[in-house]
Amino acid sequence: MNVILLGAPGAGKGTQAIRLAAKYSLPHISTGDIFRANIKGETPIGKVAKSYIDKGQLVPDEVTVQIVKERLAQDDCKVGYLLDGFPRTVSQAEALAEFSKVDAVINIDVPLTKLLRRITGRRLCGKCGASYHIDTLSGKTECSKCGGELIQRADDNEATVANRLEVYEKQTAPLVEYYENAGVLITVDGDADIEKVFTDIVAKLG
Ligand code: ADP
Ligand code: AMP
Repeated sequence: MNVILLGAPGAGKGTQAIRLAAKYSLPHISTGDIFRANIKGETPIGKVAKSYIDKGQLVPDEVTVQIVKERLAQDDCKVGYLLDGFPRTVSQAEALAEFSKVDAVINIDVPLTKLLRRITGRRLCGKCGASYHIDTLSGKTECSKCGGELIQRADDNEATVANRLEVYEKQTAPLVEYYENAGVLITVDGDADIEKVFTDIVAKLG
């Protein structure tokens, strides 16, 4: 099963992808995670990506598409995949269609007014990558899974977020219609608690 998770920054794509990957035994492929790993490793791709990510802009399509194409060609994707954060433009979707069939696109719908708090309150474990939100951390600063220190993503600041939300509206939101026309769109209400969103996705995926 080849599945795409679509939604604005902070909609809960990563949160749901981790749960869905465990339930369906599918690899979770996040282009944002791939770029952050490259930035950490100071690779040439990381250097290019950082210059866009820091400004809240999209990394150019040709760079992103090539990374995804290579990743989907790996053995673990033979059973399918969960793509989180890709495609983000119609041209990325068109490129993807040339090398992979898409079975379902889950559109996690969250009102724009809720997204700023979701993003600026996000905390990640620096060691295992687990994701949290300050609203439910009760002041804790360590990961409950591995004890690692919780950190904030460099691009999860108010100035960059404003740009990211604008980029989403202009460049990514048109994908909702694109995949609706392709007959593969499943929309879920993302403005509900994490378990409820998960149950809804599983029910609609069948
Ligand atoms: P995305 O991958 O779409 O950018 P995340 O999955 O990282 O978004 O979620 C952004 C933040 O919102 C995280 O701090 C996460 O814990 C929190 N979050 C995710 N889903 C929900 C939800 N349904 N209700 C409340 N908070 C959520
Ligand atoms: P994310 O982790 O999905 O929030 O992505 C973090 C940042 O990585 C985005 O704001 C973009 O700058 C970049 N990025 C991630 N996925 C893509 C993509 N499909 N196309 C272009 N840029 C991307």
